[in-house]
Amino acid sequence: MVEGIRRTVSGTNLGSNRDSTRQHNLSTVLGLVHSMAGVSRAQLTRATGLNRSTIAALVGELVQLGLVVESDLDQEQQHGRPSIMIQPGPGALALAVNPDIDVVSVALVSLGGHIVNPVRFHTVRAPSAAEVVNIVSAIYAGMRTSLPAHQRIVGVGLAIPGLVDPLDGTVIEAPHLEWRDQPLSALLSDALKLPVTAANDAVAGARAQATFGAGRDIPDLVYLYGGASGIGGGVISGGRLVRGATGFAGQLGHTHVRSDGAECTCGSSGCLEAEVTREALIAAVGLPAGEVENLEEAVLKKLQDGSATPELRELVDRQVQLLAIGLRSVVNLLNPSLIVLGGFLRILARAEPEALGDAVRTPGRRGPRESVAIELAPLGEDPILVGAAELAFEPLLRDPAGFMRA
Ligand SMILES: [Zn+2]
Repeated sequence: MVEGIRRTVSGTNLGSNRDSTRQHNLSTVLGLVHSMAGVSRAQLTRATGLNRSTIAALVGELVQLGLVVESDLDQEQQHGRPSIMIQPGPGALALAVNPDIDVVSVALVSLGGHIVNPVRFHTVRAPSAAEVVNIVSAIYAGMRTSLPAHQRIVGVGLAIPGLVDPLDGTVIEAPHLEWRDQPLSALLSDALKLPVTAANDAVAGARAQATFGAGRDIPDLVYLYGGASGIGGGVISGGRLVRGATGFAGQLGHTHVRSDGAECTCGSSGCLEAEVTREALIAAVGLPAGEVENLEEAVLKKLQDGSATPELRELVDRQVQLLAIGLRSVVNLLNPSLIVLGGFLRILARAEPEALGDAVRTPGRRGPRESVAIELAPLGEDPILVGAAELAFEPLLRDPAGFMRA
């Protein structure tokens, strides 16, 4: 659960504080409806400690703003009076963008973290920042014309496979895209006339997992995402995203896993992302470059039906062992209760779940490895796009009425 989601309400401030109290309470109610993708009025009353009539008034205002809708009674409620369900409304959408070396993924995402219409634009080589702006502008123009009048795109969230300056969204370095100091956020904002917020892709994924996914209500989790551009990490500790002194914390792909290992783009060698790569798996399974979407299925099928070559088995074994070494360091450093693996790291977790579990857990022995769960993120880039949308929704969730009426 990231900051902004775990919030308290304030119902006691009076006088000049009334507006800020109302803003705070609107923000809290919308945040709950958003992260739980729908709650009953009774749940809102319980979660906030506000009385029924205050909740009704707050929900009424959010309905007027188009941010939530009230629907049928909560059928699952066993006891007491049935309660009206409040769900995220269609009024606000975020444009999520994730460029990578072979594809630019773009999607509209609604409140509640639902991907509305994803577009994957394949490229024959790594796109430049200017090409990403052109691709996204064209896709956005198409999406906007088919959007009903009551729906508004509130901003753009950009998930980058690289280092992003947290202050102005400049891509400081994306080695696999061969980008350095690219002001992509500013260029995109100029082109689309929308606010743009950028973050590292794995950090975006961690936010999505903490808000909607396996990590909801888990204050200490680590998200590791493996894609075409290497392995990124996002760390949530004590319910907060760990940013570090200058905003670059969580570079778990550069955890050292092997002495005398392969050279890494960071200038070091033997890093996790230099040793455990998606490209090696693609080559070993013999999949054409354009069919990366089927990689997980293809590798697991070959391992299970006995048709895997010795090279493929050896590679998967080696990658699992090296990932295990990396995860053990992560667990000892950060003491998470949950590790979420996304992208091609899912393949390694599914191929040899015991090996990874044994590496991070020493049951019955007190310490960081006593009990750590490993879970898989949903397939594909969805968590990255949903996390990118979270960046764009942040100002709206902070001040729903102020943002929508501005
Ligand atoms: Zn490195």
